[in-house]
Amino acid sequence: MSVDLSSLEPYLPELLSGRPLAVLTGAGVSVESGLPTFRGPGGLWEGHRPEELATQDAFTKDPVKVWRWYEWRRSLVRDARPNDAHLALARIERLLPRSTVVTQNVDGLHRAAGQHNLVELHGSLHRTRCTQDGAVRPAPPGPFPQIPPRCPTCTALLRPDVVWFGERLPEKDWRAAETAVSDCAVLLVVGTSSVVAPASTLALVAARSGARLFEINPEATPVAPLAEGVFRTTASEALRAIADALSGRAARS
Ligand code: NAD
Repeated sequence: MSVDLSSLEPYLPELLSGRPLAVLTGAGVSVESGLPTFRGPGGLWEGHRPEELATQDAFTKDPVKVWRWYEWRRSLVRDARPNDAHLALARIERLLPRSTVVTQNVDGLHRAAGQHNLVELHGSLHRTRCTQDGAVRPAPPGPFPQIPPRCPTCTALLRPDVVWFGERLPEKDWRAAETAVSDCAVLLVVGTSSVVAPASTLALVAARSGARLFEINPEATPVAPLAEGVFRTTASEALRAIADALSGRAARS
């Protein structure tokens, strides 16, 4: 299926001439790698909503239950590979060195695809944080030998190094995200329902700063009314088409 890029085409020359591109991604970008979104089918775990598990309260009450959920998510991510959407974004970065991907995903697939200018706003499933001293360490590639895992130095509980509902985003990452969307000429909003704040406010920040917004999502979201163009298709279809259009133009110029 070919994607009609006519709404975006007028902005490609300025991107190729060095104006910055920002891309905000959500769980939809990893669907084609076999990872469920939170709100779509398969987003529930043993009847629980993520909002009941991804909180400090849930962890305090039942760390074993929360860790079992994260172990399930880590097992899905272990088997997942970057899909054409992640790979197209890495290709776009090579064509547009001033592009930045801001992701809400914690699966590490953008990095695995070779993305360098990357802000992982909600942390990573591939790291743990000690609940006592805050030390951040890589998680083992396989399952933890014991659940809940404990800090190898002080034996306190470890938690996943991710941002839970109700927690503040790390200041440095939030500032990097705000800078990327305020400075960009074009923001692509890809595979996010745009309902989880504060990440959902980044589109507004971009629009207020004069960026052109484009939404890539099979479903309409609250971002659509702000967008100059919408691509109602999958992340891989649309991003492959954009990467192809950019490399075609780059080769001709
Ligand atoms: P969400 O579940 O709220 O929304 C996913 C969006 O993706 C929906 O709008 C859906 O229409 C769209 N979508 C589905 N298939 C798509 C496809 N093939 N191409 C493009 N779009 C597609 O997810 P969200 O907006 O990222 O929001 C919330 C939270 O979910 C984030 O905090 C994130 O950390 C977390 N999350 C992350 C992962 C992951 O790391 N892979 C997985 C599930 C949830």
